[in-house]
Amino acid sequence: MRNSFALVAYAVAAFSFLAAVPAKAQEEPRWSIAIHGGAGTIARDDMTPEQDAAYRAALQNALEAGTKVLREGGSAMDAVQAAIEPMEDDPLFNAGRGAVLTWDGDIELDASIMDGRTRDAGAVAGVTGVRHPIRLARKVMVDSPHVMLAGEGAEAFATEQGLERMSPEWFETERRRESLKRMKAEQLSAIDVDVKFGTVGAVALDQDGNMAAGTSTGGMTGKRWGRIGDAPIIGAGTYADNRSCAVSATGWGEFFIRVGVAHEICSEIRQARLMEQATCDGPTEPGTFRECWARPPLSNDDIELIATGVIDEVANLGGDGGVIVVTPDGHAIFSFNTSGMYRGRATSEGFNEVAIYADE
Ligand code: ASP
Repeated sequence: MRNSFALVAYAVAAFSFLAAVPAKAQEEPRWSIAIHGGAGTIARDDMTPEQDAAYRAALQNALEAGTKVLREGGSAMDAVQAAIEPMEDDPLFNAGRGAVLTWDGDIELDASIMDGRTRDAGAVAGVTGVRHPIRLARKVMVDSPHVMLAGEGAEAFATEQGLERMSPEWFETERRRESLKRMKAEQLSAIDVDVKFGTVGAVALDQDGNMAAGTSTGGMTGKRWGRIGDAPIIGAGTYADNRSCAVSATGWGEFFIRVGVAHEICSEIRQARLMEQATCDGPTEPGTFRECWARPPLSNDDIELIATGVIDEVANLGGDGGVIVVTPDGHAIFSFNTSGMYRGRATSEGFNEVAIYADE
């Protein structure tokens, strides 16, 4: 009698647990994408309506390029590359054309990309004439046995792979020359001149449930001695793992490297997701009662809390910036500790927005 009561209790417990689990198999395939064009001191009062509109149009254009790939069933890797390339071409952002200048007045570009399906990754640092460094990073991942190439070696590899090159004049803009001049004349730090970090990045979840992340940048104004920031460092500026999330960062690179921002966020999400799977306590003999427990699936707020916690660590060390994150459940979130971040996101649920200031 006691045993049959326990059996009923077990069946009721098992049924109510199963009923609480969303029927994932019946859901439409989802996709989501988030992009950024840099975080920093971005105030409404400092922007003309024309500048504001130009940034929003550029973000919408990049978002649409990535969205199109995902909507049509393409891969997260293709979506990330498709979203980043127009921003590399756009002088509004600190990546590719329009990148900041080094102390010697040159352009040195960094980029990385990671495939969350396999955790394959590719990165380049200090490249000078390659039009799309994100494309070169992907080439490193696919067509070389390495993860990261720098300087002359990366250039040689780009030539070997036939990547498109542009002249220094194509990359350089008057605005960036002015920033470098001002930095030298007024003995300012990179943070004083780079009031906004214009690095670009994208993260995506495709209809097959695969995720990818990519980041591309010119680094920070007046950088010297072959300085490399977080953007090309897997785990700092970029990370993707199908089990947890895809992250791209922008901000004061030295701090993002020290915190290992992108990997730290994914690692915390992975731990939290493990607890979504039921754990059971008690005897396993047939007819005995076992208590099973699982945490509810992570919500948007949970993901934001994790990302913000890691960005707080950056702030505690003295740095600033932000991240974009997507998860296997389709969340697409932003987190930043600056007054603004050029950003956008779109999902299969019909969500589509671009934004600039922290209060929107
Ligand atoms: N994170 C980049 C770097 O430190 C700068 C940026 O985000 O704009 O190189």
